[in-house]
Amino acid sequence: MIPIAKPQLDQAEIDAVSDVLRSGIIAEGQRVAQFEEAFAEYTGTDHAVAVNSGTAALHAALLAHGIGRGDEVITSSFSFIATGNSVLFTGARPVFADICADTFNLDPKLIEEKITPATKAIIPVHLYGHPADMEAIRDIAEDHDLILIEDTCQAHGAALSAKKVGSFGTGAFSFYPTKNMTTSEGGMITTNSREVAERARMIRSHGSKQRYLHEMLGYNLRMTDISAAIGLVQLGKLAEYTSAREHNAALLSKGLRAIEGIQCPIVRPGCRHVFHQYTIRIRERDALADYLKGIGIGTGIYYPIPIHRQPYYKELGYNDSLLVTEKASREVISLPVHPGVTEEDIATIVDAISNWGGLRC
Ligand SMILES: *Cc1c(COP(=O)(O)O)cnc(C)c1O
Repeated sequence: MIPIAKPQLDQAEIDAVSDVLRSGIIAEGQRVAQFEEAFAEYTGTDHAVAVNSGTAALHAALLAHGIGRGDEVITSSFSFIATGNSVLFTGARPVFADICADTFNLDPKLIEEKITPATKAIIPVHLYGHPADMEAIRDIAEDHDLILIEDTCQAHGAALSAKKVGSFGTGAFSFYPTKNMTTSEGGMITTNSREVAERARMIRSHGSKQRYLHEMLGYNLRMTDISAAIGLVQLGKLAEYTSAREHNAALLSKGLRAIEGIQCPIVRPGCRHVFHQYTIRIRERDALADYLKGIGIGTGIYYPIPIHRQPYYKELGYNDSLLVTEKASREVISLPVHPGVTEEDIATIVDAISNWGGLRC
């Protein structure tokens, strides 16, 4: 079986966790502080605040920017449910704009028509590891005085003109095991604003800076030193992991590009795509997924139901028609691209798809 995702963990992570366990300080401590410092340096931001999931990072980032009841936040419906839900947690309303058919990211040309007097923020999602069109989106945010929060949960190290995602606005990263690097569960907020970082730290810990003095409503979103110790090791390997993903993606495209009926991923000029997923488009998507499963090749569909079409969102009254998003949700399929995939695996995948009789049936 070639799995669609596989966390890369070895003796270094085991040793780092053992050290923490032996130290006796297992909740938030020195390792978390070190991980935050290293991650801020990695993304090129002044501050990083560690939390216990990517969802928590989005939630705390929104709250730290003061977003809440009565506000609207424009984002993509072609994302994991947490992108929309984190906005709902604050009492604000997610407003969905359609995406580009080639990058699957928010189409900047369609954002302005969604802006109302209630709009407070835009959350571009760097889906699959390809950066959203941040230059255009940043201009829109500046013109309309909107907050920019990036859903960077799939895009550790992705960049536009060498500027890393998570440094254009406030970044929200995830370190779930299937992501480009992991801490088991975990997340990180990145920002150049001291005020946002300070508020995020308070929100992470029951609204307090000083123990047992609570100045605002907060939560327990803290990361443990056990997780941070894994994160420090993984961050050190991220460059190598990313190169492996890029290499695997290039080999997959080389093998699949010529097959009629398949659209391979693109990399926009000036962008670094970190291939959290290698996602192709194909009309016969479900049949291909079944066929590959039958011969031991794992695939993933991210995402089969857009957020605005989820039962809970229908209950909330969402009834948008987002044609590019909806078509993508029927046609995308992701193939194994993670650093555990070998060249032999890639040859197996390419041969299997090349020999498949199900195209244009
Ligand atoms: C993984 C993911 C999240 C949520 O991260 P968790 O760590 O699972 O809470 C949010 N948005 C996107 C796009 C993701 O891929």
